[in-house]
Amino acid sequence: MSLDRRRAALWLAMGLGPEWVLRDDVVDGAAAASARSPVDASTLEGHSAAARAAAIAGMAWDELEAAVAACTACSLCKTRTQTVFGVGSRTAPWMLIGEAPGAEEDARGEPFVGQAGRLLDNMLASIGRSRRADASQSVFIANVLKCRPPGNRNPQPDEVAACEPFLLRQIELVRPQLVLVMGRFAAQAVLRTDAPISALRGRVHRLRVGDGEVPAIVTYHPAYLLRNLADKAKSWADLCLALDVEAAAASRA
Ligand code: SF4
Repeated sequence: MSLDRRRAALWLAMGLGPEWVLRDDVVDGAAAASARSPVDASTLEGHSAAARAAAIAGMAWDELEAAVAACTACSLCKTRTQTVFGVGSRTAPWMLIGEAPGAEEDARGEPFVGQAGRLLDNMLASIGRSRRADASQSVFIANVLKCRPPGNRNPQPDEVAACEPFLLRQIELVRPQLVLVMGRFAAQAVLRTDAPISALRGRVHRLRVGDGEVPAIVTYHPAYLLRNLADKAKSWADLCLALDVEAAAASRA
């Protein structure tokens, strides 16, 4: 699916041109590593939030995964069965970001399983993508929170703040060409906004990652789509926008 000039002009005419979102806090790995304080990365405990974030910003994949598994930075560590780190290729061109693990994810240690996960897999398959790390067009899937909020309640601001360094490091390590943010909560957390999802969809946001920027598209959470089938067409439009943005970037490369 390529983006020709006519289609690009159409996107712009529809007001779907890039919306630049400056994320000064998105971690620049080199800068963070140079500013890294002597924090024991295996524990990350007993340090200021800034020192902890700087330590996480310098982690490699294995170190990061171990730090998440051992994390006790917020109260969700007391009720989780296990942490849910993420799944897919760690060099995937697309990164998908959801809200938080639910009961099934907490039990299995993988994001987006169960009915919503199957819907997501079907949506990805329709555009030739897969969460399988060995797939030719793999995606990496992670959540804003790595631990399940009890009773699937909404994440609290202190939990999001404590977990954010992990997600930021994941984004930087994957270095995706595109980020697809699923659901109102994830979109508001990643884009740092209170805007409703209706105002966030249909635009190209930009996340600053390291010394570059990554386009971000907002779409509905698959669990929402299960309850609101009429909005599936809108989520298809979001995927098409993501494909167009990717194609446009490839044509410029
Ligand atoms: S939700 Fe994030 S910050 Fe809280 S305990 Fe789990 S991994 Fe740590």
